[in-house]
Amino acid sequence: MRRLILLLLLAALPARAQAPTPSIGTRHARLLIRGALVIDGAGNPTRGPMDILVEGTHIAAVQPSAEDVESSGSSVGGGRIRGPFDRVIDARGLYVMPGIVDVHGHTQFSRAGRAMPKDYVYKLWLAHGITTVRDPGSGEGIDTMAAHARLSAENRINAPTLVPYATPSADTPEEARANLRSLKARGARGLKVFIARPDVWEAIGDEARKLGLPIATDMKIQEYDALDAARLRVRSIEHWYGIPDAAIPGPQDFPAGYNYDDERDRFRWAGDLWRQADSARLSAVLDSMVARGMTWDPTFGVYEANRDLTRARALPWFAEYAMPQVLTNFEPDPTRHGSYHADWTTADEVRWRENMAIWMRWVREYARRGGNVTVGSDAGFIYHLYGFGTVREMELHQEAGFHPLEVIRHATSNGAKALGLATTGVIRPGFDADLAIVDGNPLHNLKVLYGTGVLTERDGKLVRAGGVKWTVKQGIVFDAEALRADVRGMVQRAKGATASAGAP
Ligand SMILES: [Zn+2]
Repeated sequence: MRRLILLLLLAALPARAQAPTPSIGTRHARLLIRGALVIDGAGNPTRGPMDILVEGTHIAAVQPSAEDVESSGSSVGGGRIRGPFDRVIDARGLYVMPGIVDVHGHTQFSRAGRAMPKDYVYKLWLAHGITTVRDPGSGEGIDTMAAHARLSAENRINAPTLVPYATPSADTPEEARANLRSLKARGARGLKVFIARPDVWEAIGDEARKLGLPIATDMKIQEYDALDAARLRVRSIEHWYGIPDAAIPGPQDFPAGYNYDDERDRFRWAGDLWRQADSARLSAVLDSMVARGMTWDPTFGVYEANRDLTRARALPWFAEYAMPQVLTNFEPDPTRHGSYHADWTTADEVRWRENMAIWMRWVREYARRGGNVTVGSDAGFIYHLYGFGTVREMELHQEAGFHPLEVIRHATSNGAKALGLATTGVIRPGFDADLAIVDGNPLHNLKVLYGTGVLTERDGKLVRAGGVKWTVKQGIVFDAEALRADVRGMVQRAKGATASAGAP
């Protein structure tokens, strides 16, 4: 018997040590968020102070705040929203925006071959007000991701709402069709397609339409490009590659020694593609994409290291929030994806600066013509940390020429639209109670969303302020600072373990 118990314990241990921890979030029958300044996510200006009533999973009412409220207590006098409430969050002086929808977030349980706590990434997302994440490709396996999506919906783990997109693997059209049916049955909500032969692409496009599975793809350098994607009714272009590719007269002007499978070549010379694209052709490609109602999810941030490697390697949040294996993974190593910066030169950075400037102008133009632009981080690669990377992406949308109200729309209702979530991403009665309650005005400074906050002046003194205080996902309230403290603890323990393992 003792032996059996020991065996059972041994069998259970590794799994338990790795399993995500139980949710610290609580859902309330009636939750009042009192006195907040509200940014609705639909692009309208700030209103407030407002009271937001959340009933279960949904927003029940948004009303001008009662003026004679007490800071605690279970009822509100003078306001139009009547108690009793199970919980009141005093949000006077705080901003509330819809929870962020990161449409390109890879769930990762290990980096550089070393496991991480399974909720490290999830907690960083929630701690930054991110309430929905599309996992493009489900690198941890569609079965695991479908299971975690369920656990998250049931409030059993600390995680945003997860929308797993699986990557088909097929060499022939027949295999592709069978594979798509299997992925859907296993819980895939969409597909992330990488490089495929034209006949396989046609089969994927056709079968995905029949199954109702949206496709996300970047149309990396291959026979097909963004025009084919539009024809195949692809839902979203991730990154950008297939767009300039469709507008380059003739083949791309790569050096003779270029090898696509050498990532140093691939990422160095990708930095020249926007310059090579013909403007008139690009304009027509954008029109085709807009006509098909496609989403463009640029993920500027994950390429930013290419224009300024020194800044990227020294980001201030790495010290407390980056697991050692995440940092190891970022450093140059040709065996790992996205770790190609050995011998990255001034010339490379200059080329990439121009590349990003042209690219940003076309994203701005895409939105001007009515195209749907979203926020996706692609964090976990190239010095781009989970949560922080999503906020950085929003800053880069502002750099691309968007007003902060538009940036917040990209990060909320546009993302929901891209994922077909009709009642997500706007603060409005009847919509999902997905909210970020923020210490500071993100329209003044998007940096207030960073988990590390911002340095600001209050009463003549330099203080650190900002950060998301509470994240509400489907009505479940998470203390964002408690989540950040958990993450700092994980990082500290991992560093301690690394140090003692290295000791003689
Ligand atoms: Zn990605």
